[in-house]
Amino acid sequence: MVASIPLTVDLTPPRIEIVASTQYLAPGGVGVVVFRVSDSARSDVSVGSVSFPSFGAGGQDRVALVALPYNYAPGTPIKVSAQDDAGNVASRGVAAEILPRRFRNDRIEIRDAFLQLKVPELLPQRLPSQPLIDGFLVINRDLRRQAEEAKRGFAAKTADKPLWEGAFVQPRNTKVFSNFAETRTYVYGGREIDTQVHFGFDLASTKHAPVPAANKGAVAFVGPLTIYGNTVVVDHGWGLMTLYAHLSTIVVKVGDAVEKGQELGRSGDTGLAVGDHLHYEVLVNGISVTPVEFWDAKWIRDRFNGPLKSAGLAVIAGVGESGGESTREAPARPRPRARRAR
Ligand SMILES: [Zn+2]
Repeated sequence: MVASIPLTVDLTPPRIEIVASTQYLAPGGVGVVVFRVSDSARSDVSVGSVSFPSFGAGGQDRVALVALPYNYAPGTPIKVSAQDDAGNVASRGVAAEILPRRFRNDRIEIRDAFLQLKVPELLPQRLPSQPLIDGFLVINRDLRRQAEEAKRGFAAKTADKPLWEGAFVQPRNTKVFSNFAETRTYVYGGREIDTQVHFGFDLASTKHAPVPAANKGAVAFVGPLTIYGNTVVVDHGWGLMTLYAHLSTIVVKVGDAVEKGQELGRSGDTGLAVGDHLHYEVLVNGISVTPVEFWDAKWIRDRFNGPLKSAGLAVIAGVGESGGESTREAPARPRPRARRAR
């Protein structure tokens, strides 16, 4: 008699099927990827070294929002990756056409009066002997980088379903006076002293103007955030968040559910702000993207609902009927796979 020893070695990598995705993407813009992975696999979508989590959307379907960074280099792979419990990994490229998008440059003159006002406020630990301009550079470089890291951290709190509907709203009577992904050269005493990228829109109207939530969501952060001053972050689900900075007052708290248009606080000039305005950002898993796409119902309908609809998933309400624009692959035939260890 021969004894058989049950030996199960799972060497089969997870199977990934890309169901639908946004066809046209641009640097500083957003897309949706709908995919399926075989059982008990962890999965995400990445753009180069930046990864975006996926969320269950019913059955085996998973959805991820992906953002192309403003400085996306053509050819950088966009791919779905999955890993199963046995450690087998698999990945599949996501097809997309990359549209060009250009960003502006600006020069910002730093004046002594501004340094005298802002440096002691933002860098209280600075030594009195340290020149104000050196303090400014610590704020503009180190505190800015800390804020970027904090933005990535907020993403962990996101809801696993969309909380929002319809186009996002721009605060009433505001004008965009500073653009997304504008490269700013800072000039002091006729000398170029620093270069940084501006990750939002600056919106101005009147002093202490009401700041509305751009869409429905839940408040994910309230408080001072280095260069951003008094800040509110609203989560809209699936990693999508909006950030409101330089506020003078805040009237919401973390965990509050907010409606589209609900007042979050008033504009101000806290943080590294010259004059009263709202600094507004749209974030996807902590990566800043241009706010214009989400202000546009047609864009949401085509680039967002298109792929969701083509995958047979619920679409974002309130943006009209979708004809739909997306790439869709033929469903893969299920194939037999090795049995897993129990
Ligand atoms: Zn700004």
